[in-house]
Amino acid sequence: MAETIFSKIIAREIPADIVFEDETCLAFRDIQPQAPSHLLVIPKKPIVSLADADDQDEALLGHLLRVCAKVAEQEGLQDGYRVVTNIGKQGGQLVLHLHLHVLGGRQMNWPPG
Ligand code: AMP
Repeated sequence: MAETIFSKIIAREIPADIVFEDETCLAFRDIQPQAPSHLLVIPKKPIVSLADADDQDEALLGHLLRVCAKVAEQEGLQDGYRVVTNIGKQGGQLVLHLHLHVLGGRQMNWPPG
């Protein structure tokens, strides 16, 4: 997989406001927040998107969701929040390293844009 801005954050080649880290994943603040709390949860394993994960990644994918819930709790998002992952061109994915957006601190609308 090609190097991305997120692989550089994992390698500490560029800075990020990291809020959580363990052996398999990292969570940090989005540089262009779309809500009062906007965090990104990423696997350290280079996976382009959810569409590129395979059966061997099942536990990792579940772990990423658990980490979303943990960082949301850490952020005090007890009134609710949204978890989103963009996939590919029509999904609006810009960074080609799997990431889950955790957005909260304001009312979320539906349908999304
Ligand atoms: P997506 O459109 O789903 O690929 O989202 C990529 C997200 O990465 C966007 O919300 C960007 O604001 C965010 N982003 C890009 N570069 C950085 C960075 N250096 N640190 C934190 N977030 C970033």
